[in-house]
Amino acid sequence: MDVTLDQARTLIHACRTVVDGAATRLAADSAREGLVDVELMDREQVLAYDLSSVASQVTAAEEMLAYGAEGELETLLTVAFAGDVAAGIAARMQGREAAWGVEDEWLGDAIVQFRAARSAELLDDIGDRVLADANLPRHLPDDLDMARQTFREYADDKVRPVAEQVHRNDEDIPDEIISGLAEMGMFGLSIPEQFGGFAQGESEDDFMSMVVVTEELSRGSLGVAGSLITRPEIVGRALVKGGTPEQQAKWLPQIAAGELMCGVAVTEPDYGSDVAGLKVSARRDGDFYIVNGVKTWCTFGGRANLLGLLARTGSAGDKHRGLSLFVVEKPAFAGHQFTHDGEHGGRMEARAIGTIGYRGMHSFEISFDGYRVPAQNLVGGEEKLNKGFYLQMDAFANGRLQTAARALGLMQAAFEDAVVYANARHVFGVPLASYQLTRAKLARMAFLIAACRRFAYRSAQLLGAGEGQLEASMVKSFSCLAAEWVTREAQQIHGGMGYAEEYAVSRYFVDARVLSIFEGADETLALRVIIRRLLEQALATG
Ligand SMILES: Cc1cc2nc3c(=O)[nH]c(=O)nc-3n(C[C@H](O)[C@H](O)[C@H](O)COP(=O)(O)OP(=O)(O)OC[C@H]3O[C@@H](n4cnc5c(N)ncnc54)[C@H](O)[C@@H]3O)c2cc1C
Repeated sequence: MDVTLDQARTLIHACRTVVDGAATRLAADSAREGLVDVELMDREQVLAYDLSSVASQVTAAEEMLAYGAEGELETLLTVAFAGDVAAGIAARMQGREAAWGVEDEWLGDAIVQFRAARSAELLDDIGDRVLADANLPRHLPDDLDMARQTFREYADDKVRPVAEQVHRNDEDIPDEIISGLAEMGMFGLSIPEQFGGFAQGESEDDFMSMVVVTEELSRGSLGVAGSLITRPEIVGRALVKGGTPEQQAKWLPQIAAGELMCGVAVTEPDYGSDVAGLKVSARRDGDFYIVNGVKTWCTFGGRANLLGLLARTGSAGDKHRGLSLFVVEKPAFAGHQFTHDGEHGGRMEARAIGTIGYRGMHSFEISFDGYRVPAQNLVGGEEKLNKGFYLQMDAFANGRLQTAARALGLMQAAFEDAVVYANARHVFGVPLASYQLTRAKLARMAFLIAACRRFAYRSAQLLGAGEGQLEASMVKSFSCLAAEWVTREAQQIHGGMGYAEEYAVSRYFVDARVLSIFEGADETLALRVIIRRLLEQALATG
């Protein structure tokens, strides 16, 4: 099919004009004394949410242009993706043109490019190519590609064979998987070299390695391997950024070696998105802090040796300025519940919450009853008292890029299975793969994966350069929603067998559902992080 990158460029430019125009209008209406006012912005949440989603896609499409220049298939994927983004914008704006500040004919002359990019022939051509090979070109440097291959083989040999059993029986992650990954150095990927890890210190390479490895392990299984690196990354980053030298020396080398597993205890039954409201308290008593209250959804909290606990050390009125971050040490427990009497007094009692997917990691509700944590476990010491919120949020920012990589792994796994099934299955006497609709679905999967991947790589580059917080949030939001569609359609292509537990694709679908909920629920990410930044930029550029 004859399409050119210029067609994509024209379309993306038209989309960008709409996004910038709507952002400028919303920014003006949400400003109070030159700053974005959340209450004013919230009066237009419907527009703000849509604008955030669309802006994430348009930014991904802009990043795809460089990918599109790398080869023929890459061009086709880029043009088709640009058409898809434009169609998505049109659907969101229809009937709401006034709020968006656009005319009915907003595409103008770009309508010609739009039609070419939306043509069924283009999708058919892409479908044809990906049916022959579901491994889309990545254009990684050799060293990263070698690391990718190594972790892919590990996922194929060790993770995939146990993934179904762990999921179906909600079992623990086998110790051999954890020790195997520790031997491969996975837990040290984001810990700096001086603390026993492999990170060069927040370089592009560090973030790229994390993305590439996470994708491959998540392709093996989200619950058994792809999420193991998330919590050491979050706790490790908080310690690197804010820990005292003693804390860094004590914990980071063992985290890097995979000797200490980590959990993150932030969410509470009444406070998830609204982190500033957290109630679990840590009250100073001599050389200890006494922790009381209930944390929930603490993933890997049983197996973990260290919990990164965000607790209230100030008054409730201090909101986010009254929170401090602690490292809580505990023994590792197998299974779905545990009770632990602390070495220095107090108790924690926990039970895992049954979930539809993401099994293996087990997410716990943990009740702290007078649990005594040594004062030296306050991250950063007294200097960081009541400053834990900032450390935690900073640590979460990288976690978002990692979650995008987890979404990529799930999408790639589902896509590969869909290609195999479509080629093998005959319906009405012909291969499923020969139908136009099947090929169009596979084509859309392919360009969504390619776009999310490219955007994730770009976000890694930006984070390595000390920028990219907005992009990391955008790629998380976009990829996690894309993963729902890709896994859903892959399941659908499998017909009845897509609903059978013995087919991995049924697991991919339930696993994908969690991605838009944790690490920043999608609506919170859109309305409190992405759109805010966009409006601030719009105000700054006038
Ligand atoms: C499997 C799993 C694992 C998890 N692992 C961890 C973990 O390891 N550690 C940890 O601390 N937490 C963890 N979480 C918790 C997760 O981070 C929270 O569930 C998430 O932050 C949302 O909080 P909530 O569940 O309280 O939902 P709520 O905050 O009650 O949100 C409910 C709904 O309201 C929407 N919403 C929120 N704010 C707004 C707004 N201003 N306007 C409009 N809509 C809004 C949300 O997007 C959501 O759709 C995990 C959750 C799950 C499901």
